[in-house]
Amino acid sequence: MKELIKIQEKLDVPKAQTNSFGNYKYRSCEDILEALKPILSEAKCYLVLVDRIVSVGGRNYVRATAKLVNDEGVEVEGIAYAREPEIQKGMNASQITGSASSYARKYALNGLFAIDDTKDPDTMDNREEGINKKKIEKTKEVLKPNKTAIKCENCKTHISQKVADYSIQKFGKNLCYDCQKNE
Ligand SMILES: [Zn+2]
Repeated sequence: MKELIKIQEKLDVPKAQTNSFGNYKYRSCEDILEALKPILSEAKCYLVLVDRIVSVGGRNYVRATAKLVNDEGVEVEGIAYAREPEIQKGMNASQITGSASSYARKYALNGLFAIDDTKDPDTMDNREEGINKKKIEKTKEVLKPNKTAIKCENCKTHISQKVADYSIQKFGKNLCYDCQKNE
């Protein structure tokens, strides 16, 4: 997807967070999202973040998917996992899930947008201690743009086969995402 390359080129996420113990700077998931916002709207893309709790060998992991969708409905996604710690002093269950979630999301975003975190001595802050099992799947193109251009019947924008299939099924005609919303 050409937008992904543009976004990767333009994206610069400052390390706005400081780890008080290790005295180093790191990025949070929120820092990445803040930096992405203006670039996404410029590229006419939107980002979907989805978390799922998966159980592997009796341990819970948060599986975060960061999906970039362009205005033709073409999608690219990055996936990362973070393990939920079993016991964390002073944390309740929702806080544990929350910290594993933002950790997994951050790595899903790093993978998708090629954000280099290798220079960090340790990108985790102390709250996230114990969530050290991470796995980043290679970013994969889910859907290739369709060359045999299908057009939205309303606004004549090109739409992908997948969007067209969905639209035909749901609305009985070819509509882009935006026009589907207005149906
Ligand atoms: Zn349209």
